[in-house]
Amino acid sequence: PALLARITELIRDVPDFPTPGVGFKDITPVLADAAAFSAVVAEMAARVDGPVDLVVGMEARGFMFAAPVAVALGAGFVPVRKAGKLPGPTVSREYSLEYGTATVELHPADIPAGSRVLVVDDVLATGGTAAATVELLEGCGAEVVGLTFLVDLEFLGGRARLHGRRVEALLGVS
Ligand code: 5GP
Repeated sequence: PALLARITELIRDVPDFPTPGVGFKDITPVLADAAAFSAVVAEMAARVDGPVDLVVGMEARGFMFAAPVAVALGAGFVPVRKAGKLPGPTVSREYSLEYGTATVELHPADIPAGSRVLVVDDVLATGGTAAATVELLEGCGAEVVGLTFLVDLEFLGGRARLHGRRVEALLGVS
């Protein structure tokens, strides 16, 4: 409850970013606050069920939470990146955005079959990024044991696209 109140206080609402009509949650003040950042990482690590081999984070803000959560869990870290950033060989998955499409990629060589993987990102919005990431990981033979977010923008319905998965969010915004 104290952590929840602190996160709520720190996250900044930015209207009309990156485009008019969009309300953006700026999580950078959480990273800048030593006590809050460390408490968030500890809480994310505590909400996992069972052992985790790898923590996967999505470019770019997902990296900032996923990497320290991996260290806290004694797990490895694997980045999921936007198209063209990883040297390869890569597997990729295209998904639709409100306007157009996006592509996420990872190095399958870093995901041994049967790995127990936790997916971590800063914000769950429509769920497109997370769902594409799950598909990539399962295509590599990994077991996705859960997905953990700092913020769930509940009104965008991202959880519905992740049905049947264990989804944790430290803060839900309705
Ligand atoms: P989705 O695919 O769920 O629609 O969008 C999630 C991705 O977009 C995440 O990787 C997240 O970092 C980014 N994102 C979407 N909306 C916001 C927002 O309001 N604040 C932040 N910090 N990231 C967002």
